[in-house]
Amino acid sequence: MNSIAREAAPESAKNATKRRISLAGRLSFAIAARVAVRRLPIVPDQGYLSITFDDIPRSAWREGGPILWRCGVRATYYLSGDLCGKTVEGRAQYRRSDIDEIFAAGHELGSHLFHHRSTLNLHPGEIRNEICLNDSFLREVVGPKFCAGSFAYPYGEVSVAAKILVSRRFSSARGVSPGLNQQLTDRDLLRILPADNIFAAEIDWTAIFKDISRQKAWGIVLAHGVDDSGHDYSCPPARLEAILAGAQAGGVSILPVRDVMQRLAGRVELGSDL
Ligand SMILES: [Zn+2]
Repeated sequence: MNSIAREAAPESAKNATKRRISLAGRLSFAIAARVAVRRLPIVPDQGYLSITFDDIPRSAWREGGPILWRCGVRATYYLSGDLCGKTVEGRAQYRRSDIDEIFAAGHELGSHLFHHRSTLNLHPGEIRNEICLNDSFLREVVGPKFCAGSFAYPYGEVSVAAKILVSRRFSSARGVSPGLNQQLTDRDLLRILPADNIFAAEIDWTAIFKDISRQKAWGIVLAHGVDDSGHDYSCPPARLEAILAGAQAGGVSILPVRDVMQRLAGRVELGSDL
C-alpha cells in the first residue's frame, strides 16, 4: 500500500548493528517472516485501530495515558519485566506503580520477553524461559491469575522457533513490519503503523484512515515514548491526539489488540504448553 512506507526499519534500528545476528538467525527470520503458523481471517464489520506501546518508556503512560483517557480509548502496553524502573539511553522506563495504574485503567498488558532480547539470538529453551520469566513478573505485579494474551517480538525480530512457541502460548503476536492487517493475515506476525518520530515523514495518516475504513482492515499503531523530546522512538502528544481524532472521525473503532482478536477470532484461547 502506498500510504505506508514499504520497509520501515525495525525498532531501535540504530542499535541493530550492535546485535550480532548470525547467518542462521537471519535465515530463520527470512523464513519466519514468510511462513505463517496461524492465519487469521480478517472479515470485520468495520475498520479497527489498536494503539500499542512497546518496552515502555515512562512517558508512554505519564503523557500518553491522559490523552487516551480524554479520548475514551484503551491501549495495549507490551512490557519487558527487566526494564522495570530502569533508565535506558537516558529515558526513564515504566515503574511498578505505572503497571498498577495502566491495568486499573482497563488497558491491556502484553508480553515483550523478560530481557527484551532478539529471538534471533536465542535457542528455543532460552525463548521459552524468557516467556515464562515475563509471565512470572506480570503475575507477581498484577496478580496470580494474570495471563497476558498478546505478544510483541523485541525489535520485531522473529525466528522460526520463536514463532512456533509464541503461537502455542499467545493469542496473537505483533512484529514491526508496516502495513494493515487484512484478509488472511499472519496472526503471529501482525503488521503495524509506526507513529514514532523516525518514521514521521513516511506516514500519511489521512490516507491510512481512508484505507482502514474502505477496506475494513485492522491497523495497529506502534509507538514507544509519548513526549516532545524529539527522540527517534517517541511519538509527540499532538501526533497521538491527531491519530485518535482522525480514527474516531472516520468511524474506526479503537480497541486493545486483545479486544480486536476477540471480535475477529471469537473466544481467545491461551495456551500454556511451551
Ligand atoms: Zn521493544
